[in-house]
Amino acid sequence: MSQKSYDAIVVGSGINALVAGAVLSKSGWKVLLCERNNVAGGAIRTEAATLPGFTHELLSSWHPLFVGGPAYAELAEELTKRGVIYKNTTSPTGVVCSAGTAILSTDPVETAKEMDRLGDGAAWSGMMQEFGGKIDLAFGLLGADFWRTNSLKLASTARKRFGNRGLVATGAELLEPAAPWLDRTFSSEVTKSLLAPWALHNGLGPDDAASAFITKVIGAAVAFGGMPVPVGGGIKLVEALIGIIKDAGGELLTSADVIKVTTSNGKATGVKLADGREFSATRSVLASVTPQALYQGLLSEEKIPTEITKSADSFRYGRAAIQIHLALSEPPQWKADSRLKDVAIVHILDGMNSLSESVNASNRGWLAKRPTIVVGQPTTVDPSRAPAGTSILWIQLQENPRKILGDLAGEINPGDGSWNEERLNKYADRVLAQVAEQIPNLFNAITAKIVLGPEQIEAMNKNLVGGDPYAGDCRVDQYAPWRPLSAATGHRTPIKNLWHIGASTHPGPGLGGGSGFLVAKRLTQKSFLERIRNR
Ligand SMILES: Cc1cc2nc3c(=O)[nH]c(=O)nc-3n(C[C@H](O)[C@H](O)[C@H](O)COP(=O)(O)OP(=O)(O)OC[C@H]3O[C@@H](n4cnc5c(N)ncnc54)[C@H](O)[C@@H]3O)c2cc1C
Repeated sequence: MSQKSYDAIVVGSGINALVAGAVLSKSGWKVLLCERNNVAGGAIRTEAATLPGFTHELLSSWHPLFVGGPAYAELAEELTKRGVIYKNTTSPTGVVCSAGTAILSTDPVETAKEMDRLGDGAAWSGMMQEFGGKIDLAFGLLGADFWRTNSLKLASTARKRFGNRGLVATGAELLEPAAPWLDRTFSSEVTKSLLAPWALHNGLGPDDAASAFITKVIGAAVAFGGMPVPVGGGIKLVEALIGIIKDAGGELLTSADVIKVTTSNGKATGVKLADGREFSATRSVLASVTPQALYQGLLSEEKIPTEITKSADSFRYGRAAIQIHLALSEPPQWKADSRLKDVAIVHILDGMNSLSESVNASNRGWLAKRPTIVVGQPTTVDPSRAPAGTSILWIQLQENPRKILGDLAGEINPGDGSWNEERLNKYADRVLAQVAEQIPNLFNAITAKIVLGPEQIEAMNKNLVGGDPYAGDCRVDQYAPWRPLSAATGHRTPIKNLWHIGASTHPGPGLGGGSGFLVAKRLTQKSFLERIRNR
């Protein structure tokens, strides 16, 4: 029987796979997406998982990276036609810490007032002015396809703007950790605690190199772009992207575990599934997997240069995530500042020191005593997520060891180090007690609860190794030109026509769909030189 053939086959169906599939489909390619789970979407998993009428994003929830990124700019019209409606808020983020509370607004006048109240008005406007003058380069850097000649344009613009000496100084600024930058720039502990936790959302801590840059980028993105979410949940985006692919003649196969990329004469020719089925791709195969899954798994029978396999073998994973989902019989009542009820994401933390302590403890295998808690309130943006008068909370913890070696609070016995049910629930109780200090009606209002630990998160998506939500440590040696590999191959692989995409590759994790977009554009917009070279 002859194999079914497509222009491109994409392994996985996360945001990068879907974006790549949709962009290729719009250029007339017939695309097959193979997803090993029985549902598409990867880290987008929308379910009425607690009670009827309560819609939870079990994993990712917030779409500023997608709405602010190039994939949405290209696909927005199609997506809107297919019913994807984004809602936004003017209060994207806030903080409650030992020193007080603060809210960041998308209205610059409101934020200026808030910063004045904290004594940081001049520092904030100075920061926004200075960073605002570089924001095009900052976003350009994060979205650049490093191993293409057009990325040189970015370097040349930067050199023209800053001069040689300025360019070198900008390099140092890019590498500065957030903690010293925040201490130098702002006087209020509240301002620092408002901004610092945002580095966590790119897998960094406040003492890591480049965390100041990431904090500024996310701070600016949130201050300008808010916290958009699709009405009804990320599933709506997933369905619409699949619709674009199918309408162009493509297909999505679920329960389709790819175990091998097939090749001929050093070129990718298709994929083989665990159930024995094979499909061929006449133009490209895109694999949205981790470096180890690619080189030790899908390509294990191929001859791969040693510097590549060595580089893939040493790819590290970062801290694990825990998600707690609550259905509430009434909206949360915030004790310290009632304005927080309207904020999309509130960070609860003691302050910069507890943040630093918790990140470093978890890097060394220890449970945090006073973790930084990300409290998402999805109904503030999309009220359809819960019946009228009720609410849901999306609670995220990012300072968790993949393997437990100890507990800073001295309460949880690490045992064999695994996140078994007992340890996970005890830790979740610690977290909820800390949340209840700020939301006194919490325990009375909880009608249903789900706790997803590192093991459950990895079971939902095998790219999230050990529960690492970002499919690979994002510290600077594994970022930008060095993601996915220190051998710096970009999205190319040593196998012709095989491309590596997904959160383990540049520009890293998040719902921007950046790697899928970059590769799909590269495949559909070849330069003259490349066309000649690839003949
Ligand atoms: C708990 C959590 C919360 C997050 N919150 C946010 C947020 O609010 N906003 C944000 O911007 N980002 C968030 N992120 C990060 C973001 O969701 C991810 O970085 C992004 O979704 C990853 O997309 P991806 O394209 O790499 O594919 P993934 O979503 O990782 O999907 C990869 C898919 O490939 C499949 N697959 C793997 N191997 C194979 C194989 N061999 N054969 C077939 N299929 C295979 C997997 O089953 C999976 O479905 C969060 C992540 C997590 C885990």
